Amino acid sequence: MTTTSADIGITQYHELAAAVRGDLIVPGDPGYDQARAVYNAMIDKHPAAIARCRDTADVISCVRFARRHGAEIAVRGGGHSAAGLGVGDGALVIDLSLLRSTTVSPADHTVRADAGCTWGDVDHATVKFGMATPSGFVGSTGVAGLTLGGGIGYLSRRFGLTVDNLLAADVVLADGTFVTASQTSHPDLFWALRGGGGNFGIVTSFTFRCHDIGENGTIIGGPVFYDLADAAEVMHWYRKLHPSLPEELSGWIGLMTVPPVPPFPEALWGRKVCGIVWCYTGAHDKADEVLEPVRTYGSPLMMGMQPMPFNVLQSAFDALYPAGLQWYWRADFFNEISDAAIDVHRKYGAMLPTGHSTMHMYPIDGAASRVPADATAFAYRDGGWAGIIAGVDPDPANADRISQWVRDYWQELHPTSAGGAYVNFLMNEGQDRIKASYRGNFARLAQVKERYDPGNTFHINQNIQPASQPSP
Ligand SMILES: Cc1cc2nc3c(=O)[nH]c(=O)nc-3n(C[C@H](O)[C@H](O)[C@H](O)COP(=O)(O)OP(=O)(O)OC[C@H]3O[C@@H](n4cnc5c(N)ncnc54)[C@H](O)[C@@H]3O)c2cc1C
Repeated sequence: MTTTSADIGITQYHELAAAVRGDLIVPGDPGYDQARAVYNAMIDKHPAAIARCRDTADVISCVRFARRHGAEIAVRGGGHSAAGLGVGDGALVIDLSLLRSTTVSPADHTVRADAGCTWGDVDHATVKFGMATPSGFVGSTGVAGLTLGGGIGYLSRRFGLTVDNLLAADVVLADGTFVTASQTSHPDLFWALRGGGGNFGIVTSFTFRCHDIGENGTIIGGPVFYDLADAAEVMHWYRKLHPSLPEELSGWIGLMTVPPVPPFPEALWGRKVCGIVWCYTGAHDKADEVLEPVRTYGSPLMMGMQPMPFNVLQSAFDALYPAGLQWYWRADFFNEISDAAIDVHRKYGAMLPTGHSTMHMYPIDGAASRVPADATAFAYRDGGWAGIIAGVDPDPANADRISQWVRDYWQELHPTSAGGAYVNFLMNEGQDRIKASYRGNFARLAQVKERYDPGNTFHINQNIQPASQPSP
């Protein structure tokens, strides 16, 4: 008879508690509700246990325990998955959030980050040396999940995606063994980890290439806001301008509400706007020339660009989006911001349902688009954008309203897209969407899955099934 997670008793979990250095939290323990919570408060899952691992040995113990007893495994890095993939009902959650050390090598231009780090941890460590590795646009996001899905951020245009800067990963495999994956060691696994998500093993640490940025880590960046009434004109200008800019300058465009807090001018609090958040990482004596088209365009309501350490820009949104809000989002890739798409943005921008709800278009161009589509598992290298529509609010009573706005907006925008979406922006949308996102890389991913996880032990993720068990 097969054992299921639900059949595993407290005695067995005592066995695991004795084997690990970290805490094992089970239902009824005082910290259980806090430990099972993830960033998105819409997710309400009840795992059988949460193992807060202290080191790689703890992770190995958890995987071997799960294998022995047939327990389902969920893996949690930063807990930011909006789909709630860092936790599972009845599962053993292998929680890496205590593994947060970083080691910078200024001589080698590398940083090694444990799998429980947030990007805020890594940026803090590298910026002091005037360096950064490409990550995202938010400091509180987990290094692990973001990296394994691809990693799109301010530095992608100049230096590629996060996965394009990954040099090595330490991985606990489904059979409880440990390997280091790199170009020369388990290259097939290394290929799959760079975009294939948590399907192939549990990464316990990552080593990234770093780059000198700005002047000793100080960049020039920040938001520029335009009246929502000007959104169509701004989008037309931006879509033409962005590809022509030097790669030291990158900006994502969105629709949003000005937060009612300093440093935003009080006169703008609560106003719906079209915003572009810019980041210029080049030499400061060239900044006036490079930023001139941005500084002279249109009639901005606010021009918030200024010199700041890179990690300050990276963490600028952290306090505005704390853990515990309701989140529902939908996404797509876009080769262009078409006239038809702009009409849809204007319509739904005017209906932003709550102050936190927003739409963002993140460029995947420049260096990120020069990497061949089959060089890593991350397949979208067409030089366009990753778009996301996010309904967000603190009040659970608004969950349906924000979700419906997202679904309606996505439904109308989707026909203008390139097909597929950034896997880190998918909800639980089924195999067709996962396949569309991986494009021509899907079959190879299924083969690597077959080799490293033939029993699909790691399936609480955007799941790629082993080649011998193709999905329906
Ligand atoms: C506010 C916010 C801002 C964001 N901004 C960006 C952005 O700028 N750029 C961008 O690219 N993405 C962004 N994202 C998306 C983000 O990349 C994903 O949500 C990602 O999954 C978060 O990683 P995590 O470790 O925090 O998530 P988790 O919820 O912990 O994990 C997500 C998935 O990764 C798996 N996983 C986690 N850790 C490991 C590990 N060590 N080994 C194996 N599998 C693991 C989990 O099992 C799960 O399937 C953002 C998300 C949010 C909520």
